[in-house]
Amino acid sequence: MRPLTEQEIRGAFVNCSKGEAKRLTVPRDLAQQPWEDLDYLGWHDPKAPERAYLVAELDGKLTGLALRAPAPVARGRSMCSICVTTHSGGVSLVVAPKAGKAGKQGDSVGTYLCGDLACSLYVRGKRDSGEPNRETLGVEERSRRIVVNLSAFVARVTG
Ligand SMILES: [Zn+2]
Repeated sequence: MRPLTEQEIRGAFVNCSKGEAKRLTVPRDLAQQPWEDLDYLGWHDPKAPERAYLVAELDGKLTGLALRAPAPVARGRSMCSICVTTHSGGVSLVVAPKAGKAGKQGDSVGTYLCGDLACSLYVRGKRDSGEPNRETLGVEERSRRIVVNLSAFVARVTG
Protein backbone atom coordinates (compact mmCIF):
# COMPACT_ATOMS: atom_id res chain seq x y z
CA MET A 1 0.00 0.00 0.00
CA ARG A 2 1.11 3.58 -0.34
CA PRO A 3 2.52 5.37 2.71
CA LEU A 4 -0.14 7.18 4.72
CA THR A 5 0.09 10.32 6.76
CA GLU A 6 -1.18 10.67 10.30
CA GLN A 7 -3.90 13.00 9.04
CA GLU A 8 -5.09 10.48 6.45
CA ILE A 9 -5.13 7.75 9.07
CA ARG A 10 -7.16 9.81 11.53
CA GLY A 11 -9.61 10.75 8.80
CA ALA A 12 -10.19 7.15 7.71
CA PHE A 13 -12.05 5.69 10.71
CA VAL A 14 -15.59 4.55 10.04
CA ASN A 15 -16.60 3.14 13.42
CA CYS A 16 -15.56 5.65 16.04
CA SER A 17 -16.36 9.28 16.71
CA LYS A 18 -14.32 12.11 15.20
CA GLY A 19 -13.11 12.93 18.72
CA GLU A 20 -11.87 9.38 19.28
CA ALA A 21 -10.19 9.35 15.86
CA LYS A 22 -8.42 12.56 16.80
CA ARG A 23 -7.21 11.22 20.15
CA LEU A 24 -6.25 7.67 19.27
CA THR A 25 -2.58 6.71 19.17
CA VAL A 26 -1.17 6.62 15.65
CA PRO A 27 2.20 4.86 15.23
CA ARG A 28 5.06 7.34 15.60
CA ASP A 29 7.26 5.50 13.16
CA LEU A 30 5.04 5.89 10.08
CA ALA A 31 8.08 6.61 7.90
CA GLN A 32 9.61 3.28 8.93
CA GLN A 33 6.58 1.10 8.23
CA PRO A 34 7.18 -1.56 5.56
CA TRP A 35 4.49 -0.01 3.34
CA GLU A 36 5.42 -2.00 0.25
CA ASP A 37 4.71 -5.21 2.11
CA LEU A 38 1.47 -4.09 3.74
CA ASP A 39 -2.08 -4.73 2.65
CA TYR A 40 -3.25 -2.87 5.70
CA LEU A 41 -1.59 -0.96 8.49
CA GLY A 42 -2.51 -2.46 11.85
CA TRP A 43 -1.32 -1.61 15.33
CA HIS A 44 -2.10 -1.90 19.01
CA ASP A 45 -2.40 1.18 21.18
CA PRO A 46 0.80 0.95 23.24
CA LYS A 47 -0.97 2.58 26.18
CA ALA A 48 -4.00 0.31 25.96
CA PRO A 49 -2.94 -2.92 24.23
CA GLU A 50 -6.49 -4.29 24.14
CA ARG A 51 -7.24 -1.51 21.68
CA ALA A 52 -6.15 -2.01 18.10
CA TYR A 53 -6.62 -0.20 14.84
CA LEU A 54 -6.28 -0.97 11.20
CA VAL A 55 -6.38 1.15 8.08
CA ALA A 56 -6.54 -0.06 4.49
CA GLU A 57 -7.28 1.33 1.10
CA LEU A 58 -10.34 -0.63 -0.03
CA ASP A 59 -11.90 0.08 -3.41
CA GLY A 60 -9.81 3.22 -3.59
CA LYS A 61 -11.13 4.49 -0.28
CA LEU A 62 -9.13 4.70 2.93
CA THR A 63 -11.00 2.86 5.63
CA GLY A 64 -10.03 2.60 9.27
CA LEU A 65 -11.45 0.35 11.96
CA ALA A 66 -11.20 0.73 15.70
CA LEU A 67 -11.07 -2.71 17.32
CA ARG A 68 -11.15 -4.28 20.72
CA ALA A 69 -8.43 -6.87 20.60
CA PRO A 70 -7.98 -9.05 23.66
CA ALA A 71 -4.77 -11.00 24.07
CA PRO A 72 -4.55 -13.93 21.65
CA VAL A 73 -6.14 -17.20 22.60
CA ALA A 74 -3.24 -18.93 24.26
CA ARG A 75 -4.02 -22.55 23.60
CA GLY A 76 -4.44 -24.64 20.51
CA ARG A 77 -4.19 -23.93 16.83
CA SER A 78 -6.39 -21.29 15.31
CA MET A 79 -6.66 -19.48 12.04
CA CYS A 80 -6.86 -15.81 11.14
CA SER A 81 -10.03 -15.19 9.15
CA ILE A 82 -8.45 -12.35 7.20
CA CYS A 83 -5.20 -13.88 5.91
CA VAL A 84 -5.97 -17.58 6.63
CA THR A 85 -2.67 -18.10 8.47
CA THR A 86 -2.70 -20.84 11.10
CA HIS A 87 -1.07 -20.01 14.41
CA SER A 88 -0.61 -21.85 17.63
CA GLY A 89 -1.76 -19.31 20.14
CA GLY A 90 -1.38 -16.17 18.03
CA VAL A 91 -4.91 -15.35 16.93
CA SER A 92 -7.23 -12.85 18.63
CA LEU A 93 -10.97 -12.66 18.40
CA VAL A 94 -11.23 -8.95 17.66
CA VAL A 95 -14.46 -7.02 17.90
CA ALA A 96 -15.37 -3.89 15.96
CA PRO A 97 -18.22 -1.68 17.12
CA LYS A 98 -20.58 -1.19 14.21
CA ALA A 99 -20.56 2.15 12.43
CA GLY A 100 -23.15 4.81 13.25
CA LYS A 101 -26.19 4.42 15.43
CA ALA A 102 -25.95 0.63 15.74
CA GLY A 103 -22.46 0.94 17.23
CA LYS A 104 -23.61 3.55 19.72
CA GLN A 105 -26.29 1.10 20.83
CA GLY A 106 -23.58 -1.50 21.44
CA ASP A 107 -23.77 -3.58 18.27
CA SER A 108 -20.50 -5.05 17.16
CA VAL A 109 -19.08 -7.66 14.82
CA GLY A 110 -16.11 -9.94 15.38
CA THR A 111 -13.48 -11.78 13.42
CA TYR A 112 -10.41 -13.85 14.10
CA LEU A 113 -7.30 -11.86 13.34
CA CYS A 114 -3.56 -12.37 13.65
CA GLY A 115 -2.89 -11.09 17.17
CA ASP A 116 -0.06 -8.84 15.99
CA LEU A 117 -2.10 -7.51 13.06
CA ALA A 118 0.69 -8.55 10.73
CA CYS A 119 -1.35 -10.58 8.19
CA SER A 120 0.54 -8.93 5.32
CA LEU A 121 3.89 -10.13 6.65
CA TYR A 122 2.73 -13.71 7.18
CA VAL A 123 1.45 -14.09 3.63
CA ARG A 124 4.77 -12.72 2.32
CA GLY A 125 6.80 -15.11 4.45
CA LYS A 126 8.33 -12.15 6.35
CA ARG A 127 7.01 -13.35 9.65
CA ASP A 128 6.64 -16.95 10.72
CA SER A 129 3.60 -18.19 12.58
CA GLY A 130 5.46 -21.33 13.65
CA GLU A 131 2.86 -23.53 11.98
CA PRO A 132 3.31 -25.30 8.65
CA ASN A 133 1.99 -23.37 5.68
CA ARG A 134 -0.11 -25.63 3.50
CA GLU A 135 -1.16 -22.85 1.15
CA THR A 136 -1.02 -23.52 -2.55
CA LEU A 137 -1.79 -19.90 -3.47
CA GLY A 138 1.01 -17.50 -4.36
CA VAL A 139 1.81 -14.36 -2.43
CA GLU A 140 -0.12 -12.11 -4.79
CA GLU A 141 -3.31 -14.16 -4.48
CA ARG A 142 -2.94 -14.37 -0.73
CA SER A 143 -2.40 -10.62 -0.54
CA ARG A 144 -5.50 -10.06 -2.66
CA ARG A 145 -7.42 -12.41 -0.40
CA ILE A 146 -6.54 -10.23 2.62
CA VAL A 147 -8.10 -7.25 0.87
CA VAL A 148 -11.20 -9.25 -0.11
CA ASN A 149 -11.68 -10.64 3.41
CA LEU A 150 -11.04 -7.27 4.98
CA SER A 151 -13.56 -5.62 2.64
CA ALA A 152 -16.13 -8.20 3.66
CA PHE A 153 -15.45 -7.49 7.33
CA VAL A 154 -15.70 -3.74 6.78
CA ALA A 155 -19.03 -4.30 5.02
CA ARG A 156 -20.27 -6.05 8.17
CA VAL A 157 -19.09 -3.13 10.30
CA THR A 158 -20.70 -0.47 8.11
CA GLY A 159 -23.73 -2.52 6.99
ZN1 LIG B 1 -3.94 -12.67 9.65
